[in-house]
Amino acid sequence: MSSQTELQHGTVRNYVDGEWTTPAADGEDVTNPATGESIARVGYSSEGDVDEAVTRGQDAFEEWHRRPVEERIQPLFELKQLLEEHQDDLATLLVEEHGKTFGEAKGELRRGIENVETACGIPTLMQAGHVENAAPSIDETAVRKPLGVFAAVTPFNFPGMIPLWFLPYAVATGNSFILKPSEQTPLTAEFLFDLIDRAGFPDGVVQLVHGSVDTVNAILEHDGIEGVSFVGSTPVAETIYETAAANGKRVQAQGGAKNHVIVTESADLEFAAEKTVGSALACGGERCLANDVAVVEESVYEEFVDLVREEVERQVVGNGLEEGTTIGALISADHEQRVRNYVETGVQEGAELIHDGRDVTVEGHEGGNFLGPCVFRDVTSDMVIAREEIFGPVLGLLPASGIEEAIDIMNRSEFGNAASLFTGSGADARRFRHRAEAGNLAVNAGTAAPMAFFHFGGRKDSFFGDLHAQAEDVVRFYTDETVYIERWPDA
Ligand code: NAD
Repeated sequence: MSSQTELQHGTVRNYVDGEWTTPAADGEDVTNPATGESIARVGYSSEGDVDEAVTRGQDAFEEWHRRPVEERIQPLFELKQLLEEHQDDLATLLVEEHGKTFGEAKGELRRGIENVETACGIPTLMQAGHVENAAPSIDETAVRKPLGVFAAVTPFNFPGMIPLWFLPYAVATGNSFILKPSEQTPLTAEFLFDLIDRAGFPDGVVQLVHGSVDTVNAILEHDGIEGVSFVGSTPVAETIYETAAANGKRVQAQGGAKNHVIVTESADLEFAAEKTVGSALACGGERCLANDVAVVEESVYEEFVDLVREEVERQVVGNGLEEGTTIGALISADHEQRVRNYVETGVQEGAELIHDGRDVTVEGHEGGNFLGPCVFRDVTSDMVIAREEIFGPVLGLLPASGIEEAIDIMNRSEFGNAASLFTGSGADARRFRHRAEAGNLAVNAGTAAPMAFFHFGGRKDSFFGDLHAQAEDVVRFYTDETVYIERWPDA
């Protein structure tokens, strides 16, 4: 454990009822992945801390949900402005605790801000439906009502964006909201709440509790929480889904991924190679939307392998804050080792490692968690590296006889978060759209990331629940629909 004085950012604080507080129990160091140094200490919130946040959230809800909707979105307009003004500082802090590049950090903040903007449209998004003369002399109206206190538990990999898939919509619909961010990247959340503190929300409407498994369990077991949004790995997502549902809560739980990109012979191969490499390696591969298996039509397989190799050779591994870096550090030394083990597994399984990034060194950053890009060719769909989520800068290339076989290979995956197709054929694009078993699909784009005004969510083992993050889906998650029936017989 580091002493407080050595730490750049001190101990990370909770934000409860408009006050900054300290979590009850000591927790763990927050490290800078590019240097391996501790930069802060994050505490673990106790059952009592969670109870305090829920109680204050319930108190705040009483007044907040009665406010006119137009008033409820004013703090969101202010928050958007504050996020715009502070995005460079926020992005710098995000890089320091996460390891990705500054450009990637700015990119994720942009997607987060988009959600704040979309939630400002809640007066329209909250509208349900109205039918006149639904029955003789009867009109029927559906109304979306907030329910109380909601919580979200979020992962380390997009600390500036994922909380905003939920927070703006939860509060704009009239609920109170508690965020439990990842203990690996809690500083971005603290900065975000510093801006929230200034945005003008009433005390208790938006709150922050740090912590780990016990804190999450306290959230799942608290009777005062109406629903839980979760984003993280599949085993945890499944447990959260089961436990929250067993405790009578609404739950949406997004899990891990193993995304495929398919390249057909009619594709613009250079463009496809550039986008495939970008998708696999962005954020060091620590993305639920990383396409890290490329299934390529045999007739263009060799050409594509060469283009990928050229593209990968252009990558620069380094500190995410240094200009020119395209691949930053992995989140922790443990995770780096886990990814290295997968590379070793790939070699053992017989795939050919055509680009080996294991020997990378970053001068002046000997304590950092760096791994250069690793590319395998002749991967087969039964190999571990083709089936399991690696979450690192590792790309596997597989040949297939054509689009149908490529889709079959892809659909064998247990996961179904996202998929991309590169093609010049409308018929192939249509086949892909009809048959691909993933929640987010892209044609001639490397990453299938929907804008904030569309929902975001996967299928199969990538998602547990029904209503997804963002846009109208999450508005429905945060509201209950009441139907009013009125009869006024004509005289
Ligand atoms: P993680 O599952 O380890 O942790 C996510 C959150 O759950 C954290 O806040 C953590 O404190 C908490 N947690 C961890 N273990 C827990 C347990 N046993 N019980 C209760 N809570 C627990 O995930 P991570 O490593 O932070 O994030 C990476 C994972 O998230 C990857 O699998 C990635 O694919 C996934 N992810 C999915 C999406 C999506 O939209 N589907 C988006 C981003 C990340």
